[in-house]
Amino acid sequence: MPIPRAIHDDADHALAVSEIERLWGAAEGSPEAGQLEALVMLVDAYEVEHHVIDPPAPVLADDACPSCGTLMQQKRATLDFVVNGENILVPDASHLACPSCNEIVLRYEDFKALQERAREAYRQKHAPAESNE
Ligand SMILES: [Zn+2]
Repeated sequence: MPIPRAIHDDADHALAVSEIERLWGAAEGSPEAGQLEALVMLVDAYEVEHHVIDPPAPVLADDACPSCGTLMQQKRATLDFVVNGENILVPDASHLACPSCNEIVLRYEDFKALQERAREAYRQKHAPAESNE
């Protein structure tokens, strides 16, 4: 399947999202991780532009731990997310955790939610006390 270079309509969007789901969890530094990052940015831009609100289908069809194979559990905890090089702590963030080895996996919607909340926290932290625009 060709990797879309740009997203023009909902069909492109659906293709990009399915590619993200396929590539999700690619090893850092691999070509797949580079494609994944590019696709996430494309999808992100499209969703902002077109106000897409429907969340994509869950990515992880099988909730097995990638490290040890134990069935992972839905958890909420404070996770950190880097925004503009700054570590932002996001409390009560949904994720999957391995009860055996403590591996943490973010599904695509968990990642999107975490990213959204981290960006919002970053904005509030760096917002001027008073806006005189
Ligand atoms: Zn594990």
